[in-house]
Amino acid sequence: MALPKTPPRAPRADSVGFAIVGLGDYALNQMMPRFEQSPRSHIAAIVSGNPGKLRSVGEAYGVPEDARYSYDDFDRIAKDKRVDAVYIVLPTGLHAEWTEKAFAVGKHVLCEKPMALSSAECSRMIAASERAKRKLMIAYRCHFEPHNLLAMDLMAQKALGPLRIIRSDQEYRMGPVTPAQNWRLNRALAGGGPLEDFGLYGLQAALYLTQEMPELITASAFRPENDARFTEVFAHVGTHMRFPSGAVAQLSTSYDAAGANIIYARGTTGKLIMDPAIGYSGHKMRLEQAGQPDRDLTPGDPDVQFARQLDHFVAAIRDNSPIKTPGELGLRDVRLIEAIYASAETGRNVWLNPDGTMRT
Ligand code: NDP
Repeated sequence: MALPKTPPRAPRADSVGFAIVGLGDYALNQMMPRFEQSPRSHIAAIVSGNPGKLRSVGEAYGVPEDARYSYDDFDRIAKDKRVDAVYIVLPTGLHAEWTEKAFAVGKHVLCEKPMALSSAECSRMIAASERAKRKLMIAYRCHFEPHNLLAMDLMAQKALGPLRIIRSDQEYRMGPVTPAQNWRLNRALAGGGPLEDFGLYGLQAALYLTQEMPELITASAFRPENDARFTEVFAHVGTHMRFPSGAVAQLSTSYDAAGANIIYARGTTGKLIMDPAIGYSGHKMRLEQAGQPDRDLTPGDPDVQFARQLDHFVAAIRDNSPIKTPGELGLRDVRLIEAIYASAETGRNVWLNPDGTMRT
């Protein structure tokens, strides 16, 4: 656990106070340390089921004892004026319930990806945000990461000519654990598994690179027999998507293959290779264009993605600026995940409406 050695800076008067809900790996080791880099954000409260973590994390981040909440006394946060927003960083199956709870106590919500496990849950979360008149943002950090932002710009400028092919690989090998030991293998908390967790990045990239919605999805999913890891979730999912322009995307994701994190785009006159594409650091990006020398592109430090995501959300809260990754984007992606599983289950093509719902 990466706890700060010195207390955090004093918040500015216009800083948004966040309650962090769920003190797990991503919250403790990635997001919480980055609040220092976002001038108008600070950690005002923490929420956890583990009293030991509440104490050690609370002390390290200077969170007063009366701003350390258990899940059972979360509703008390309604009266806590120090807290403007809630950051939901719980297992995915709990996102909808806790987002609704946070809106019910009048706070803004930054919710981790994937937004939820079903489009019905996503719609409930959006409705709760509208009822509460509070902001909802999905924590899609790649929309704030310099390499991915440059890739979007290059595609908008048609740097590869018309885009034809996208390929993505998001894979790693899960250790010898069971669904009871790791929520990522538990259907109620993780849905179908690697697609929602890691493959979602390739799905997102295919859409933000083509700037289109797919019209057709064909997919298959595999769950091995006699493997204690995969009694509830799939080991791999392969998806083929076709876009109205004719571009096609092939997306692979697995919890049982050697690590890969690659996005590859090819147009009529060039190609873009991102490997690694969507991690926390170490991104590499190569552009090959007809008639020009190949170029390695280094648009900036990927580390800024975490703080810029926070900056963006606090600007929406304080300045009412539009959110690039709103609940509607999370809903769109969960609809596509539903279409992928529908195709995998039936073995058929699934045709889509422009909003990602399945055509009947
Ligand atoms: P962890 O398992 O490390 O942490 C989840 C935390 O949730 C736990 O430590 C626990 O915190 C709390 N929790 C409450 N109920 C449960 C339960 N029933 N089972 C397990 N944990 C529970 O997960 P991650 O931090 O890796 O992931 C959390 C969220 O963040 C997920 O939605 C994930 O998709 C997302 N994520 C996003 C990433 C990104 O790059 N944007 C990267 C990694 C994860 P406590 O002990 O304090 O109660």
